[in-house]
Amino acid sequence: MSSRFALIASALLLIAAAPYEPPHAGTRVGYRSASLIDGTGRGLQANMAVVTDGARINAVVPDSALTPAQLHGAAQVNLAGEYLLPGYIDSHQHLATPPDRPEAEARLRRDVYSGITATRDMADDIRQIADITRAALVGEIPSPDISYVALMAGPSFFDDPRTHAISQGAVGGHVPWAQAIDESTDMPLAIARGKGTYATAIKIYANLPGNLVARITKEAHRQGLRAWAHGMVFPATPQQVVDAGVDTVSHTCYLAYQAMAKRPDSYQHRFPIDAAPFIRDNPVMAKLYADMVRRGTILDATLHVYREVEHAAREQHKPPLCTVALAGKLTNQAYQAGVQISTGTDGDTPLGDPWPSLFDEFQLLHDAAGLPPMAVIEAASLTGAKAMGAEKDMGSVVPGKLANMVVLSANPLQDVRNLRSVVMTVKRGRIYRRSDYRR
Ligand SMILES: [Zn+2]
Repeated sequence: MSSRFALIASALLLIAAAPYEPPHAGTRVGYRSASLIDGTGRGLQANMAVVTDGARINAVVPDSALTPAQLHGAAQVNLAGEYLLPGYIDSHQHLATPPDRPEAEARLRRDVYSGITATRDMADDIRQIADITRAALVGEIPSPDISYVALMAGPSFFDDPRTHAISQGAVGGHVPWAQAIDESTDMPLAIARGKGTYATAIKIYANLPGNLVARITKEAHRQGLRAWAHGMVFPATPQQVVDAGVDTVSHTCYLAYQAMAKRPDSYQHRFPIDAAPFIRDNPVMAKLYADMVRRGTILDATLHVYREVEHAAREQHKPPLCTVALAGKLTNQAYQAGVQISTGTDGDTPLGDPWPSLFDEFQLLHDAAGLPPMAVIEAASLTGAKAMGAEKDMGSVVPGKLANMVVLSANPLQDVRNLRSVVMTVKRGRIYRRSDYRR
């Protein structure tokens, strides 16, 4: 009997106390006297208290209404003069193309100390991402929670060097996390192989016709996965992608191909988008946006990457595929039409930079796409959570959800740049003070 107990005890020891693990249920913290922006769209609420219990939010009440029972045994954090928001979500990162674990961990560490509590990894070498995701979840490393994808594309896409970079030792197009799809594909099996990687979604990337985008989406949904697509899948048009019922579309400028007389027939044949049809509201785009609103299709705009694309093209004296100005204009039109927008970056700042690119995305959504600060906050929180399919657990500061929050020293409603004034991040109830961040 006692030896059996010892066996169990040693097994428990093996899984105890990862350095960043969330606090256990019963460990309570009261965040007091905060100016709260809860992410539900409500305005700023002064003098609020949030009580967390383990990894979850237990209560959100006016500070004056806190009861002794709610505070019993709770550590207290005074947030007077500070702003409490839901943790930020980056809806578009690539953390392992090619895999480089020290770099990925350094970026994730910077992310979590910058207020980012969750991220979507939008196609990579999943053999490595799966392990990093586990390490983040159990608290072995400081990191946002990660949701990742299994990629699907037409066979002709797999001459792209990135597909080799994410499949080293195997053959891109023939691995469960990067599959070549054509009319002959056994779709239930292909989706099940993707699901077997523990992916949240299928990323529908390129070089597929509309009927295959629709079949992938339908089968992914049937098997409980999400479908996260590029806005144009070449030859599948933006309208076909939206009609297929995908949950999110990435890269604003791709949507513009819908309104162009000529469209690229493959990813490799993309050409620059002419800004002229989009100077005023365009009826073709208006229909596309209306369908996205009706279906709840989220736009993962990725304005930051268009800044990178534009910069790289100018350096090579080539016309850019799309400019930041046009990406901003299209995103503004989608926003005005009521499309939900998430904050994805698809490219990061150098690791020597103290802040990740998500803050550039916030700035561009405000400056180039005309979103008011409150809309940027909603994009970064509740819409980001919906984009991950995780809105039951994330995206707003309400009882029952994960205790994923960011504390700011300056009011982000007065200036969107104040979203950078991070004092601390709370992820699954664990505190990461910005002052503890070491590069
Ligand atoms: Zn991407």
